[in-house]
Amino acid sequence: MNDPAPTLRQLSCADDYDPNSMPVAKAREVIGRFLTPIISTERVHVRAALGRVLAGDVVSAFNVPADDNSAMDGYAVRFSDLKGDGEVTLKVAGTAYAGVPFKGTVKAGECVRIMTGGVVPDGADTIVMQEHVKAEKDRATVGSGHRKGQNLRRAGEDLAAGQVALKGGLALRPAEIGLVSSLGIGEVTVYRRLRVAFFSTGDELVSIGTVAGEGQIYDSNRYTRHGMLTRLGCEVIDMGVVRDDPKRLEHAFRAAAGAADVVITSGGVSVGEADFVKDLLGKLGEVVFWKIAMKPGRPLAYGKIGAAHFFGLPGNPVSVMVTFYQFVRDALLRLSGRDPVPPLPSFKVPCTSNLKKAPGRTEFQRGVLAQDAAGNWSVRVTGDQGSGILRSMSEANCFIILPDSQGNVVAGTLVEVQVMEGVV
Ligand code: AMP
Ligand code: MG
Repeated sequence: MNDPAPTLRQLSCADDYDPNSMPVAKAREVIGRFLTPIISTERVHVRAALGRVLAGDVVSAFNVPADDNSAMDGYAVRFSDLKGDGEVTLKVAGTAYAGVPFKGTVKAGECVRIMTGGVVPDGADTIVMQEHVKAEKDRATVGSGHRKGQNLRRAGEDLAAGQVALKGGLALRPAEIGLVSSLGIGEVTVYRRLRVAFFSTGDELVSIGTVAGEGQIYDSNRYTRHGMLTRLGCEVIDMGVVRDDPKRLEHAFRAAAGAADVVITSGGVSVGEADFVKDLLGKLGEVVFWKIAMKPGRPLAYGKIGAAHFFGLPGNPVSVMVTFYQFVRDALLRLSGRDPVPPLPSFKVPCTSNLKKAPGRTEFQRGVLAQDAAGNWSVRVTGDQGSGILRSMSEANCFIILPDSQGNVVAGTLVEVQVMEGVV
């Protein structure tokens, strides 16, 4: 897909393509066709690798753990010395500590005192926990009821030599960083970070640090995007506020597309008088512009300016966040090399609120998932759902997703929720 332009043009001629009422799933699918993950990589120390995407498989060069070792403090014995019915007294031939193995071999009639993590000495095949042993000087008396091989951690049971420990495409969490370290690996190869440039459009906007005059409002969308992009591990290029002026917008688009893999704007995509984004994109690149059958976030532009992907999000602060999480997030993760792209978790719970909903579009209402005294989960809607009310995002920990066919929801009905806590 070196030149996506013909495909974009073909799309607008396709039978099921209605740019005035595009279903959410269809818009996602179309975007997916244009995404080619970045290929440049860099080496980073494991300490700097949190959240980065592995550019290839990590293979274990040896067994982890390297040797059979004890899962308990106790005695390493030869199972054949134990009696099925009754006690046997064994001679304690020495001690195996974690990190200081017992050098000899456990002979018939002998055992070795062993600590958790101690290497199981030659000759022994079973660990008896210390609570099941009567110890006196250099003698240990062991009863019946034991199983051959009990309380052992086997060599390679965590990772076998030659095994793929971590697959390429995975983002490193603390668990993976620990796993890499357990292999003695200090540096990993990761994809370079995705570069994302963004700006807000609107004559009414001022940035924080400036006093808002009459009729002006503070730009919040740029700061929301800064946060969302940072959480996704992107390298962010904040290009500020751009006035609703075709010349300035064109300059900003060109600069952003030259500096980044992805450009994300907000505002100016409805078809009001000062909404120049669509026309400009048509001039500078190839654009797919939709009115998506969703609420909030109806107008959305996607396209390419040269090699850069472009997302033109609506201006309303809630619409920005909803369209980001429903369309942009997955695309950015795919471009960043994530494979597979993990979906935001979703499941069904009873809704305790009555919800107003018109059929024919997907709604993403903001909800609060909570547990009652009996431990059962349910969801309620946050207050006013207006697309300018950012408080409804701040109070929410999930989206309530109401599909196209759904009408009003009566309290008590099961609804699909998508968790945003810790993600959004
Ligand atoms: P637009 O899509 O440009 O017509 O903007 C729709 C609404 O969102 C208008 O009320 C704008 O004032 C508001 N808006 C646009 N951009 C921002 C922004 N960056 N921060 C806060 N509100 C915005
Ligand atoms: Mg505007």
